[in-house]
Amino acid sequence: MSPQLRPALSTLPAYVPGRTVPGAIKLASNETPYPPLPHVLERIAAAAAGANRYPDSNSTQLVGELAACNGVDAAQVRVGCGSVSLCTQLVQAVADADDEVIYAWRSFEAYPIITTVSGASSVQVPLDGGYVHDLDAMAQRVTGKTRLVFVCNPNNPTGTAVDRDALVRFLRAVPSDVVVALDEAYREFVADDAVPDGLTLLDEFPNVVVLRTFSKAYGLAGLRVGYAIAGDPAVAAAIAQTQVPFAVTTVAQAAALASLEAPAQEQMRERVAEVVAERERVRAELLRLGHAVPPTQANFVWVPLGDTTTAWAAGCEARGVIVRAFAGSGARVTVSSPEENDRFLAAAADLV
Ligand code: PMP
Repeated sequence: MSPQLRPALSTLPAYVPGRTVPGAIKLASNETPYPPLPHVLERIAAAAAGANRYPDSNSTQLVGELAACNGVDAAQVRVGCGSVSLCTQLVQAVADADDEVIYAWRSFEAYPIITTVSGASSVQVPLDGGYVHDLDAMAQRVTGKTRLVFVCNPNNPTGTAVDRDALVRFLRAVPSDVVVALDEAYREFVADDAVPDGLTLLDEFPNVVVLRTFSKAYGLAGLRVGYAIAGDPAVAAAIAQTQVPFAVTTVAQAAALASLEAPAQEQMRERVAEVVAERERVRAELLRLGHAVPPTQANFVWVPLGDTTTAWAAGCEARGVIVRAFAGSGARVTVSSPEENDRFLAAAADLV
């Protein structure tokens, strides 16, 4: 007899990680191409020496630093094993079977998976014609069953962002007992002042929780550490309840702490500035090649390709560049170092 598994698993879309192909450059996972900063590497090595001991399950020191850096109370902060883990914990903390989780589509591909696994139902609201969250339509889909709304800002995979006015209007429309998760995994790359920092909304909207990560701008994707800052400490406490014990390793905590110190902050900002300049160059070149790439506030661009997506991604791969293809829809391409971006743009020019 075969094992009895949950029926929901048979309908579950697989999370597709960006592929690593020897010899090719990987622009498929929105990582930084640069290794961790020397100062952070030293602290990683030092922390590794204590790996015989369990980590601090509450990441107390890191929580304290994040609270101080962001001007919030430590009770509002929770550290997790990457922000994808915090997304999962949040769904598990708020939604029972038959409750609803609303998010835009297309957006971060983990949302449907974690919603289904937790037993809740997904309500997917199409992006508008410019690939931006249609927040008015999302507000209209809120019902008595809604427990959580994800707003991915900037949105993965389109890079588009919602502005303060639209977001505030949305938050005013959503009942105050429905949790709204502002997934700001790419916040550090935002250059447009109209795009709000979610933390500035917490006082007025205590049902908001902001999710951030050390994976992207801080270049620690392989260590798995992110954080949540909730307007209401009860939400942070609930995320703690649904966390796997010891989920954040000692090494990850040490690397994140080192990343918050002044030298690392400065270098992070320099790297981000390079990405921001490069993304404008990459987008301009793609527009010139005839691709209707929407404005992006993240470290990637969205190339709408419809039915030609798979063939175009295969063409990039044949030229040594791995992009992330969403069949029938488009490709997401990470903005990397100038040299890697040049290689990608040469491939894209070849494929016109
Ligand atoms: N949210 C969004 C929108 C993302 O794109 C990602 C990474 N792909 C995450 C969360 C998760 O990042 P991590 O778990 O590495 O912190």
